[in-house]
Amino acid sequence: MSNAFKAIIAGGGFGGLTAATALAQRGWSVTVYERQHELRASGSGIYIWENGLRILDAIGAQVVSRDSFHGRAMEQRDRNNQVIDPGDFPPSVRLVTVARKDLLNGLRDAALRAGVEIRTGAEVIGAGAAGDLHFAGARSAQADLAIGADGVWSAVRRALGLELFHQQTDEGALRAIIPGTQEDLGFDGQGKYIELWSGSRRLLITPLNRHEIYLAFTCQKDDLAGKASPLDKAAWIASFPHWAHLIERVDTLLPWAPYSIVKVKAWSAGRTALIGDAAHAQPPNLGQGGGMAMQSGLALATFLEDLEDRRDIPERLQAWEAHERELAEHCQRWSCLYGEVSVLPDDARSRIIHHGMADPWVRSQILRAAQSQPTGTQRPGQPVRLAAN
Ligand SMILES: Cc1cc2nc3c(=O)[nH]c(=O)nc-3n(C[C@H](O)[C@H](O)[C@H](O)COP(=O)(O)OP(=O)(O)OC[C@H]3O[C@@H](n4cnc5c(N)ncnc54)[C@H](O)[C@@H]3O)c2cc1C
Repeated sequence: MSNAFKAIIAGGGFGGLTAATALAQRGWSVTVYERQHELRASGSGIYIWENGLRILDAIGAQVVSRDSFHGRAMEQRDRNNQVIDPGDFPPSVRLVTVARKDLLNGLRDAALRAGVEIRTGAEVIGAGAAGDLHFAGARSAQADLAIGADGVWSAVRRALGLELFHQQTDEGALRAIIPGTQEDLGFDGQGKYIELWSGSRRLLITPLNRHEIYLAFTCQKDDLAGKASPLDKAAWIASFPHWAHLIERVDTLLPWAPYSIVKVKAWSAGRTALIGDAAHAQPPNLGQGGGMAMQSGLALATFLEDLEDRRDIPERLQAWEAHERELAEHCQRWSCLYGEVSVLPDDARSRIIHHGMADPWVRSQILRAAQSQPTGTQRPGQPVRLAAN
């Protein structure tokens, strides 16, 4: 047990809280610095795939309840509401959807139970490679390990000079949670998530529980009616007339925002590491950005197990990156690729989705992260592999 070691983390999001909990459970003393005045998840609902569920299980975060929605398929439909692909998941892959606040609260509670200290209203403005985080007023904190889990605009990433690029996509989404039940999805939509395509607009229908449905309205940045806030219901009903009954219910809406794609030179410098969107932000097309943030957070703690000398931390961090980075970037690549079909003509897109999703290799690439066994979720007694692939 390495109970002498200290970690400081910038950002109390999904990645930061997972890393904090996993380190604390391994004997580390951990402080999280979150710039908001309370831990708050921005956004509406979130998909948690099999890999994310295993991570929550491994750190003891109680997020999924009997009320959470367990979908058995992601059905793709065209503008006429005709099925392009049934999108059934293999039995080994679970997918659960919850409100973002429920995921964040579950992670926060697990962190507090593990003894993590969470300081809110604490904005990190810089960092160094010696495990140091910097704050306004020339204040700083230093530890054996510092982590930048501060999201797409990461101050830690920029301070360390690790950014290769941060690109924003032309596509973006408006999001809302509406009241709704399974009956609202029709007799053929029960138990499923439904993704609908019409021109360059997309509507993703995601049940969250027995009484709420999360809607994501996706369009290009030059689609002024599509991205209008409050929602231009007539414009969206014109694109998806079969779903007028849900679109009509939108009240509170998160305004349109593009997606970020982040690439970095390395996941760490010295004793300071980057996790989650700070290191590998990706469009949400695979629903794996949060899963990857949690996955890299738990893996990092696992690679630091049995540490005896903090001088070994840089090497451990490099081994962690060598082991984890390929999968995170695989998700990023496939998520970008998936997004490309949104600008194709309807007929061509339907053919590509129909044939692509029927191809076992394509499906295995899309489901690869979901079907992976995240580092640190090994069954008890199974040795943790620290060597890079
Ligand atoms: C439309 C959309 C839908 C998505 N859907 C899904 C999905 O279904 N499933 C999924 O897995 N992923 C999804 N994602 C991706 C997912 O939201 C992100 O990948 C995930 O939130 C990344 O977690 P993180 O902890 O790295 O960063 P964040 O969640 O962004 O957390 C960063 C935290 O750091 C704090 N912070 C920022 N700067 C500072 C600072 N300077 N000092 C201190 N604190 C700071 C922030 O306030 C925040 O609390 C979606 C993304 C979008 C845009």
